[in-house]
Amino acid sequence: MDTADKLALLADAAKYDASCSSSGSARENANGGIGNGAVGGVCHSWSADGRCISLLKVLLSNACAWDCAYCANRRSADVRRGAFEPEELVRLVIDFYKRNYIEGVFLSSGVVSCPDATMERLISVARTLRVRERFNGYIHLKVIPGASDILVNEAARWADRVSVNIELPSAASLARIAPDKTPQAIFGPMRTLARAGGFEPRRLIAEPRPLLEAPAPLLPARPRTSDAPGRRELSVHEARKDRTRNPGASVLPAGQTTQLVVGASPDSDAAILTLAENLYLAYDVRRVYYSAFVPVADDPRIPSLGRPPLLREHRLYQADWLFRFYGFTAAEILADGASLDDDLDPKSAWALRNLAFFPVDVNKAGYAELLRVPGIGPVSCSRILRARRSSSLRHDQLPALGVVMKRARAFVVCADKAADSGERTRALGDARILRALLADPVAARAPGEGERQLESDWRAGA
Ligand code: SF4
Repeated sequence: MDTADKLALLADAAKYDASCSSSGSARENANGGIGNGAVGGVCHSWSADGRCISLLKVLLSNACAWDCAYCANRRSADVRRGAFEPEELVRLVIDFYKRNYIEGVFLSSGVVSCPDATMERLISVARTLRVRERFNGYIHLKVIPGASDILVNEAARWADRVSVNIELPSAASLARIAPDKTPQAIFGPMRTLARAGGFEPRRLIAEPRPLLEAPAPLLPARPRTSDAPGRRELSVHEARKDRTRNPGASVLPAGQTTQLVVGASPDSDAAILTLAENLYLAYDVRRVYYSAFVPVADDPRIPSLGRPPLLREHRLYQADWLFRFYGFTAAEILADGASLDDDLDPKSAWALRNLAFFPVDVNKAGYAELLRVPGIGPVSCSRILRARRSSSLRHDQLPALGVVMKRARAFVVCADKAADSGERTRALGDARILRALLADPVAARAPGEGERQLESDWRAGA
């Protein structure tokens, strides 16, 4: 097989890994080398199914000694196999870089004989790029579960970002669907990576507790309590405010990420989100990616899905956004069930469960309170705080500040208190009116439509 054939095969084999965004590094060109992980960034592309792909996203090998049921490259799959030699891949990266095709590389691999042997090959590519080729572009390396600490640290030394994919959120699902992986083999490298990035890992509290719990010397899961009214637990957003980042750090400047597969196991949204929140708090994971399971083969260990559960994947991303930017905890998002609402985004669902919290006075409420209002996001919230310094705000001023009034109107009071008060009272007293006002149009679209647009809708409208 020549290099072009290998590239076609091994780039296609890498497409299901969603944990490939390139943010967070400020590695600059140095010592007369080539590439720059800070200025150029990595070119991104969107695949047909909506995933973000950095432009050299490739496996070193798609031969794998393990047999994860959800994976197209598993040992028992009848697929064409191929592998790059490390030197061959280094040449390819440099050739592509010099032709301006790429700014970086996302490199993973099937398990070739054992985790450490595979890691040595992956690290060899990264080390050769950095040392011999003086490549300063972005490198994202995958760590194989079970890899030894010394190799995990070596990967952190050469890469901007490293990821260990958890894939399944419970020990029971791992045992059934990915029998070669164990929670210990996954979380051990994640703790090593947290320390490599200057963060002392804490104890995981996600269920199932007996297997996911980390060894005793780790710090407790939640280091202090929240200042938020009525809540004791610290949110991811609050915990991160105290964490200083150094994107120019020489070791792992963009930190670690992970991926959870959605829909390949019976695990609930609650199991997925509880674990994700724990990973942010306990291991300082920068991003958790949620990947809707794409059925690749008939296997009795996995459910038969007609199509990937993209709406569920999207709801999980929305909830994750609430962790990281809105100060919500998993317990608040999941207050009354194991599953997120298909018809409402998680913030609207929270508002409907907590009507006593409303209406919020936009001229008096603090940042955290305002962020709880449907239709108000971080940007519009900051604009409100700035604008009300000079005068009390009226309803008709809010759209210009970015507030989505269709969603917010029933939940706020302004200086012109009489305006909308009748409509607000009616809406707050009738859950059906509120559900109609807050209904997420994405849920009503035909299957497969619109999911790619969702993140931008969410960012804009909150
Ligand atoms: S370890 Fe599992 S997920 Fe990774 S390539 Fe092998 S079979 Fe696929």
